Amino acid sequence: MTPQPALKDHPTKPATAQNAEPWFVLGAGSMGCLWSVAMTQHLESVLAQPVTLLLRDDNAVNFYPGKVTVEHSSGTTDRSVELTLPAMSVNDTSHGAFKIKRLLVACKAQDADAALASVAAMLDEQAIIVLLQNGLKFQQQLSLARPPGTVFCLSTSFGAWQREPFHVVAAGGGESWLGHLREESSPILQRSQLQLLSELPDVAMNIRIDDDMQRRLWEKLAVNCAINGLTVIYNCRNGELLTRPAAREHCQRLCTEISTLMHGIALAPDMPELWQRVQQVAQATALNVSSTLQDVRRGKHTEIEHLNGYLIELADRHRLLCPLNQQVVAAVLESGRPL
Ligand code: NAP
Repeated sequence: MTPQPALKDHPTKPATAQNAEPWFVLGAGSMGCLWSVAMTQHLESVLAQPVTLLLRDDNAVNFYPGKVTVEHSSGTTDRSVELTLPAMSVNDTSHGAFKIKRLLVACKAQDADAALASVAAMLDEQAIIVLLQNGLKFQQQLSLARPPGTVFCLSTSFGAWQREPFHVVAAGGGESWLGHLREESSPILQRSQLQLLSELPDVAMNIRIDDDMQRRLWEKLAVNCAINGLTVIYNCRNGELLTRPAAREHCQRLCTEISTLMHGIALAPDMPELWQRVQQVAQATALNVSSTLQDVRRGKHTEIEHLNGYLIELADRHRLLCPLNQQVVAAVLESGRPL
């Protein structure tokens, strides 16, 4: 990706959803469906067609039932929201001069670059792109490649899983954080961010702005690197990493290696307390099956190369050793291989 020139500053419009642009959601899986519904409900009073799904090809569009369903369950009450949403293929050439000005990328990290390339012709040069991926590598690359004020990241503890295509179950909630990875902030960046916040479902998804998104994504990456791969190696739920002695000892050693790597990697925050943080997360999510183990069980490509794989890349660049992370990546890739 080639770095782009900076955006010209524009006259200020107040940050309000009244100025919202239509959104396009690339990747209509668990998160894409969850966010599309929340975004539509947030913007339907100001836009006739707030959200359009971008599907990978005409086949996917033909298969699309025309609606997205999200099941919510909280305690004893269950409710289901079903919305009719338009969908189009990324290959649709009937759009003519139309340009996308708002894009939410909801693919897995390993698919995001190719998916984004497939809509490049439809993207306005100054389109605002919001990235939902776990990991950090793709976010960093895209933030450098596009003009300042156009790439933002969302880190969320809201989860979802697919009951069937375009029908998802919202699995737990919490908070979402919006921010950018540019080292320098500027009035234009802050204005874009506030405008974005007004267009996103800030109440439903409990979104707040984080002025240090780099740190937030790093901390989530470190925790994911310490938990996800090991749940594949031990074929266990998150909580069992603490209750099975061999897994616990392995997890603690992996945390030590990740903390040491972070200390040596330029731009990574120090995280000497990683093992404590990982124990809290594993306890709080004790019954969860990590996304990496879910992918392995379903025979899907995991995000491991964007988790521990990314740490290994950075370690190599800094001439640091990381045998435990290498072992985790190798084991996960091996589990995903057909027998
Ligand atoms: P997912 O259910 O696998 O959805 C990804 C979607 O992207 C799939 O529908 C996939 O279509 C589509 N896609 C892939 N390549 C595409 C392309 N070139 N063009 C159009 N669509 C394409 O994944 P997810 O669970 O929503 O996760 C998305 C991201 O959010 C991941 O980085 C994940 O780590 C992060 N996240 C997930 C959760 C969660 O609870 N699910 C929570 C926090 C963060 P196909 O099915 O046709 O491949």
